[in-house]
Amino acid sequence: MLQAPIRWPRPSLLDEPLTRLDGIGPKLAEAAAEAGVETIFDLLWRVPRAYGERPGQKLLGELEKGAEATVSVEVLRARRVPVRKRGFSVVEARVEDESGSIKAVWFNQPWIATMLAPGLRVILEGRLETKGFTVSQMEVVGGGSPRTGPPGLDSAAPVSRHPGTEALRPARWRRWAWQACGMLGELVEPVPAELLARHGFPGSAAALKAAHFPEDEADAELALRRLAWEELLLHQVVIRRGRIESRRRSKPAMKLDIEPELTEEWLDSLPFRLTGAQSNALGEIGADLAGEVPMRRLLMGEVGSGKTVVALWAMLRAVDAGGQSVLLAPTEVLAEQHAETMSKLLDGSGASFGLLTGSTPKAARAELLARLSDGRAGLVVGTHALLEPDVEFHRLALCVIDEEHRFGVRQKSKLNNKAPKGHSTHVLNMTATPIPRTLALTAYGDLDVTALRELPKGRKPIVTRVAGPGDRGKVFEAVRRELDAGRQAFVVCPLIEASESLEAKAATEEAERLRGGELCDFEVGLVHGRMTGEQKAVAMEAFADGRTDVLVATTVVEVGIDVPNATVIVVEGAERFGLSQLHQLRGRVGRGEHGGHCYLVSEAKGESARRRLSTLEKETDGFRLADVDLEMRGEGEISGTRQSGLPRFSVARLPEDAELLESARADLEWMLARYGSLDAPELAPMADLAGRRFGPEGIRQS
Ligand code: ADP
Ligand code: MG
Repeated sequence: MLQAPIRWPRPSLLDEPLTRLDGIGPKLAEAAAEAGVETIFDLLWRVPRAYGERPGQKLLGELEKGAEATVSVEVLRARRVPVRKRGFSVVEARVEDESGSIKAVWFNQPWIATMLAPGLRVILEGRLETKGFTVSQMEVVGGGSPRTGPPGLDSAAPVSRHPGTEALRPARWRRWAWQACGMLGELVEPVPAELLARHGFPGSAAALKAAHFPEDEADAELALRRLAWEELLLHQVVIRRGRIESRRRSKPAMKLDIEPELTEEWLDSLPFRLTGAQSNALGEIGADLAGEVPMRRLLMGEVGSGKTVVALWAMLRAVDAGGQSVLLAPTEVLAEQHAETMSKLLDGSGASFGLLTGSTPKAARAELLARLSDGRAGLVVGTHALLEPDVEFHRLALCVIDEEHRFGVRQKSKLNNKAPKGHSTHVLNMTATPIPRTLALTAYGDLDVTALRELPKGRKPIVTRVAGPGDRGKVFEAVRRELDAGRQAFVVCPLIEASESLEAKAATEEAERLRGGELCDFEVGLVHGRMTGEQKAVAMEAFADGRTDVLVATTVVEVGIDVPNATVIVVEGAERFGLSQLHQLRGRVGRGEHGGHCYLVSEAKGESARRRLSTLEKETDGFRLADVDLEMRGEGEISGTRQSGLPRFSVARLPEDAELLESARADLEWMLARYGSLDAPELAPMADLAGRRFGPEGIRQS
């Protein structure tokens, strides 16, 4: 007869609150919740990242009065001290280590007395005071049962260091982890055994146990790798599922697959040949557009890489096929700039396009809306003004979104809803920020990605120099030389985290200083984040038209503004910027025939800041800089990207775990090939856990 298992795992027990564990009441549970740990499962995934000596470990002979310390001692004798005050108790014990002995004191924990048998080895955390060593935490050494606690310093195993939090000490986290590990039998393995075997990874329960209480260092290392990989894999599962779902749900897009006459003629008429990267992009986008599944693609390429040309090509295909397309830009200046590029590039193509912004005059707006709704206008470029409900289209087929991270999901879907009934639009997102691959696979996992890594030929490189504060005189001398030759300059003021008003003030002062000093012979304009949209636009236009020679700016003018006559940019406090951001900034000069110069003025004394900045003197590839930046600053710091879309991993670290991420991605493909789909029964535990950990709200939809 088949024997029934003694008991089945009950994974739901792991979703119970921490108060289920011994010694955790509502107050402690609340303190843990502050650290993001609410359930036993959360606790299990809060693994230590370091192993070894306990911090602050001291011999009794080394203790200093008043200082917190941890000691590892043996109990000689213990007793409850009679006290008169009701509800108050004291337990005292004489404890010793190889350096001597001392009196340890516990207040209001009368039960401790019964535990402290002579010969018991304990680890005590506390503080040496006049009365003795006041104990705040105790851990019994050489334990092994959930009651007595985790293995201690005397065991050969490495001691795991559970990170403490403000309210909870490491020892407490460690004891709780030990208890939680006692419940690992309830865990269901999420990953198919076959896949684990391919990697030689331990099961999930074994890995969690080993991460908390490893037998040796290799054990811990493998466990952490397995856990990081599991997280990345589950996250990829959720991304993939989101993509499949959104495709299943989405209405069909217009198939733009007819003979692209207009588009071909237009390409032939361009005054330049496309770069290899541009041609490749047209191929990828063209294939998307030819299908009914709506395109969701990200086109990234730094300023000047020729994105607009690619976008226009796609927009013209829509028109060729009898549809319409829009280009949405985050600011009026950018929208106008696109309109200008379009009118230049479309010259003679016969295609007509409109521009719609908040400052389009009423009559012109009404006229444009009429032409859009009956289909006479095929192309339109504009700002948020395009999202208004009364902007209607005849057959909207494609939306191009410039600087896509500056629009919210809701704004994007407003535009998408302007497609004909029962249809969806194709969407091409654009960004000038090169996105490192690890980010592309995580925060941008919902999009296909096309990169323009090649700048059009003949573009002159921007000569970049790092300067110290003492070189400022020379820097502005160089600026004056350019201005005297009729060129223009940007001066970018230091980034002041979290304070737009301080930043604005600094910029205002800098503009005043330059007007009265180094640049007194020139017109100096100013733009900062505290100005109204109108004021900004006026300042930008004055610069674009050449009425001002110099534009002092904060980073509000981040990307995109195109002033071919600007040939020099000075960045003050350059050490406060990321390399990618600086690269973006310098991309604003050297767009015309005159080449460009970039001066990075650094206030930093240290050699390392200087060395970091000097990377920019040599490196001109924005993608490589983004990678360097990522390594030095971490994911969250890459500006101009979706930072909020990043999942929180407990164990995995990006970009360090990039290789595990690639492997997880390949493993997902392998599983899909092996089991057919994510709905396969073999993948049910994985899909279920993935959904609970990372989705669907953890994933951004585009
Ligand atoms: P981005 O939008 O990526 O900043 P644009 O598409 O605006 O770049 O192109 C920048 C400038 O380079 C434009 O004036 C454009 O006409 C020109 N350009 C684009 N592609 C090429 C190319 N393949 N060869 C030469 N010039 C190009
Ligand atoms: Mg552009």
